[in-house]
Amino acid sequence: MTGRAILAGLAAVFVAGISQFFTSDEARECVQDGLAVQRARSVVVTCQGRGEVRLCSVDCAMQWLPHENGVTEIVVHDEQTGEPLAAHRAHYVETSNQRLHAFSRWTDAHDFAERSAARVVPDPLTPWMRDPTKLERTSQD
Ligand SMILES: [Zn+2]
Repeated sequence: MTGRAILAGLAAVFVAGISQFFTSDEARECVQDGLAVQRARSVVVTCQGRGEVRLCSVDCAMQWLPHENGVTEIVVHDEQTGEPLAAHRAHYVETSNQRLHAFSRWTDAHDFAERSAARVVPDPLTPWMRDPTKLERTSQD
């Protein structure tokens, strides 16, 4: 094998590795229903011994969480801005077709609820965490 062939081979392996890395990073699928995860509605759950798990919606998270022990962190994304926030800091709205929406600001949640004839509901995710009471005690703001 010539030096050039070896170099070409190495380059091919390198490119394959890089493209695999990017595909697995971008094409994230929901662990509950296999749908593509869109940032604005996604939920990221951290589990002990399993790492981060992504779900496409609060609805999927509600179906998935009861089957998982050792949940240490739940992050939702504000539906208006796509900004991440801890699940226990979000405000949730349930529409008439029983879909859940997360908002970081109370006013956004309230406006959305009024516009879409929906209702603001209590945080449905945090109770599934390993130790939600500890979490509430340590939060300062
Ligand atoms: Zn899903």
